[in-house]
Amino acid sequence: MELKDKRVLVVGLGKSGVASALFLKDQGAQVTVSDSKHPDQLGKEIPLLLDRGIAVETGGHGERTFGGQDLIVVSPGVPVDAPSLVQSRALGEKVIGEIELAAQFLRGPIVAITGSNGKTTTTTLVGEIVAAGGRPAVVGGNIGTPAISLVEQASSGTTVVLEVSSFQLETIETFRPKVAVVLNVTPDHLDRHRTFAAYVDAKARIFENQLKDDFAVLNADDPTCVEMARRTSAQVFWFSRKKELNQGTFVHDGQIVFRGPGGQQEVMLASEIPLKGDHNLENVLAAVCVGMLLDCPVPAIRAAVKNFKAVEHRLEFVARVKGVEYYNDSKATNVDATIKALESFTGNIHLILGGKDKGSDYSVLNDLLKQRVKRVYTIGAAAAKIESEIQGPPILRAEVLENAVKSAASAAVAGDVVLLAPACASFDQFKNYEERGKVFKQAVASLPS
Ligand code: ADP
Repeated sequence: MELKDKRVLVVGLGKSGVASALFLKDQGAQVTVSDSKHPDQLGKEIPLLLDRGIAVETGGHGERTFGGQDLIVVSPGVPVDAPSLVQSRALGEKVIGEIELAAQFLRGPIVAITGSNGKTTTTTLVGEIVAAGGRPAVVGGNIGTPAISLVEQASSGTTVVLEVSSFQLETIETFRPKVAVVLNVTPDHLDRHRTFAAYVDAKARIFENQLKDDFAVLNADDPTCVEMARRTSAQVFWFSRKKELNQGTFVHDGQIVFRGPGGQQEVMLASEIPLKGDHNLENVLAAVCVGMLLDCPVPAIRAAVKNFKAVEHRLEFVARVKGVEYYNDSKATNVDATIKALESFTGNIHLILGGKDKGSDYSVLNDLLKQRVKRVYTIGAAAAKIESEIQGPPILRAEVLENAVKSAASAAVAGDVVLLAPACASFDQFKNYEERGKVFKQAVASLPS
């Protein structure tokens, strides 16, 4: 893609928007960035952008800004059907996302990982598996470093491991991963994708440009993934924690096994996985499958898995206080992740739920609430909705997280677990889920011991 002297508009000034604008400027484009937020709500990058000769528009999108552009690069936070983008497309302007922009410049093979839950964990682990095998790898995308910022670091021999969200996939054109992974598809983000079918369609776009020498790795235990396998031209490999497969990774007699055209190989014992929960076994099976497809040596794969620590805010062990264990799963921003968190403990759970509702049905938690939860503490804007839908244990309206931690600590006895797995987004009371997780950890640290 030739960008020299092209007029390019970047919409949305998040991390990936800023990185895209700087990249485009380096390529010689005439760059404008536009964000509807007020400058005070945006990061501190505006002076940097202005310094670099990038035009900055904030507090609204001027109609004229969108006219006469050669290319529009949209951030994943901007809906693809925003009126100004619809109009731009009608005018024949090209509208792509940052992942597509990066795909046009990245040279090494791409491993792209999507799914409703487990993306960050699996992406991080795949990066470590490739690196343990002695090959250069860079990791980013929807986590950490935006894909566009990896272009500089990655040569043609570098494996580029990317976490990609459904929003990012909505704006691809030529993006073609060598290995595309779909971990699971459960209802999430229905506030923006409107229907489950539309959400599945967005995720399935990860396969759109794959050819038959590429690989698709899918969850054989997830009916939606099984359906999706029909949508790829790549060779399909599966992972399953429940059954044996003709092609892919599964557990046989306690061993993680990879079966491919060349036969069957034992990789490691499932009991060597240092992470809690069946869902993490699924993430490991997916990552091991990718490692095997990339020809990483088995001892390197095993070592990378054995040394892997839970990513912060993902069922992260915080502390044991007076015999009570505290776990931070602030990243459990949807009901399915909360189910997985509850399934990771046998019982005696004090569960903190709530935040910003995403149109979820909380009643699907009821079986696990009855079996494993001693008490629920609700916080945030969704508290009343949650209370009207859940049944089983007693519920205490704690309103705020600090209060929930204090109340749980005084009710819990040795052997109990206090779990933040809120099933909601954080934006009603926090900047993001990271801040929510940090507040939880601080509240735990200030409990009297
Ligand atoms: P993502 O990047 O897709 O949000 P993370 O690895 O950050 O995934 O995990 C998000 C949440 O989902 C955490 O609460 C985690 O404990 C839970 N989780 C992780 N892997 C899975 C999985 N395979 N299935 C369901 N839930 C999962």
